[in-house]
Amino acid sequence: MVVNKRLYTLLLSIIVLAGFLATSLIGYFVAKDSLTDRLQQEMLPLTSDNIYSEIQRDLLQPLLISSLMANDVFVFDWVNNGEQDASKMTSYLAQIQKKYHTITAFFVSESTGQYYHPTGVLKKVSASNPEDGWYFQARAARQPYVINIDRDTADQHRLSIFVNYRIEDKSGNFIGVIGVGLSLQTVVELIENYQKRYGREIYFVNREGDVMLQSSHYNPELHIQNKAGLDKAFVQILTSPSASFSFKTSNGSVLYLNSRLVPEFDWYLIVEQVNDPSSERLETAFLINMGVALVISAIVLLLAHVAVRGYHDKLETMATQDKLTGAASRQVFEFYFKQAVARCKRRDEPLALVLLDIDLFKMINDNYGHQAGDRVLNRVAQLIKSHVREEDVVCRWGGEEFLVMLSGCDLAHARDITEVIRSAVAALQFPVNNAVAKITLSAGIAQMQEEETLGQIVERADHHLYQAKNAGRNCIKPDPAATE
Ligand code: GH3
Ligand code: MG
Ligand code: MG
Repeated sequence: MVVNKRLYTLLLSIIVLAGFLATSLIGYFVAKDSLTDRLQQEMLPLTSDNIYSEIQRDLLQPLLISSLMANDVFVFDWVNNGEQDASKMTSYLAQIQKKYHTITAFFVSESTGQYYHPTGVLKKVSASNPEDGWYFQARAARQPYVINIDRDTADQHRLSIFVNYRIEDKSGNFIGVIGVGLSLQTVVELIENYQKRYGREIYFVNREGDVMLQSSHYNPELHIQNKAGLDKAFVQILTSPSASFSFKTSNGSVLYLNSRLVPEFDWYLIVEQVNDPSSERLETAFLINMGVALVISAIVLLLAHVAVRGYHDKLETMATQDKLTGAASRQVFEFYFKQAVARCKRRDEPLALVLLDIDLFKMINDNYGHQAGDRVLNRVAQLIKSHVREEDVVCRWGGEEFLVMLSGCDLAHARDITEVIRSAVAALQFPVNNAVAKITLSAGIAQMQEEETLGQIVERADHHLYQAKNAGRNCIKPDPAATE
């Protein structure tokens, strides 16, 4: 029973803990998966969308200015008049630059190839000079303008965004390219602002994968192909308009990456995040969950233990005790008997069994009712118990029969005790239904003989009891040895 109880507790602990562990783990992985999905499918693309739309917004004003310049009557007239006075054009450009706070303003004439700038005519563009590629690209373009990022012709150290607006006359003849340049500083500030706000790294790479623009405090590899873990993904980044990846970096952390093409720049905007910070919160939540699970498991097990012990005790009492009288049950008597026999043998002591039977009990039931009979049974049982020692066992052997085991008692002693009981019962004034019931009992006593079984002794005691009944009841009959 003890082993079973331990096994039961162990099984219960395993089931409860395994259950908690399983639900916590499932919860953890589901949450982690959905967070990763959210990061990849929503958060990083959203960051890149936001940056893209801010870039577009920042580009709107220079686009408008350039469009205005490309449609300016002054420009048409001045070109038609054969680009007579260069200072007129340069002061026009200076005025634009001043008015709209652009870093540069320019015009390149198709007929002369001259590059006009607020400071003067800087050079002549030539198809053979790769630096002038942007002009020929704009000239060949179908759309009204081309945006490019380049080193400024006037200041070679400065990377600027240029809006190259095509000028066409009324008949659709190409006249030249006009436009403004603005500093990339605003885009860099945008990147830094985003990095601060979201803890994500943001940079641009060109179609070849070279890093073109980054914040001052983040230095990605110069070519994304060299970036650890990116060697395979880079092909996809550089061939699709947008892509999402996550991969383990060399130091074991997970890198989430989103790329999108910014067609105006012909660059890819890359948004990166190392280790989703919320996954740390998930791990903490998982540990807290397990801690709570342990506490709950301990409480559940304690409650289960108390309940099981309660039921166990109750069952034990039910199995070992007669409900009506509280006397030992027949089942447990054998166990007590064996113990007593061993003890008596060890101490070389006698052992006597007394079988007591209430006389004409049927009449009590008949005269006063079954419930009254029950009360009589209980009263007699208490009375018997009160006249024997603690270590003696009183057992309800049958309906109105009690078997009393007196260890260390020989026949004479047992007879004395039984006689006390008999006379006490006989003297009992038992009130029932406004009357007083008279109760008597008869008894047979047998002393254990060598190697005798319980059945054999009880049979002898029963035999003597039968004699007592025959002798007129309310009397005691022991083994013949005691009666001389
Ligand atoms: P005798 O003196 O020969 O023993 O006569 P008796 O009437 O006591 O014997 P008998 O065996 O004929 O009847 C025993 C009765 O005890 C019959 C049964 O209904 C009653 N009895 C047995 N168990 C209980 C019990 O738990 N409660 C009550 N009220 N009666 C019981
Ligand atoms: Mg009987
Ligand atoms: Mg009887």
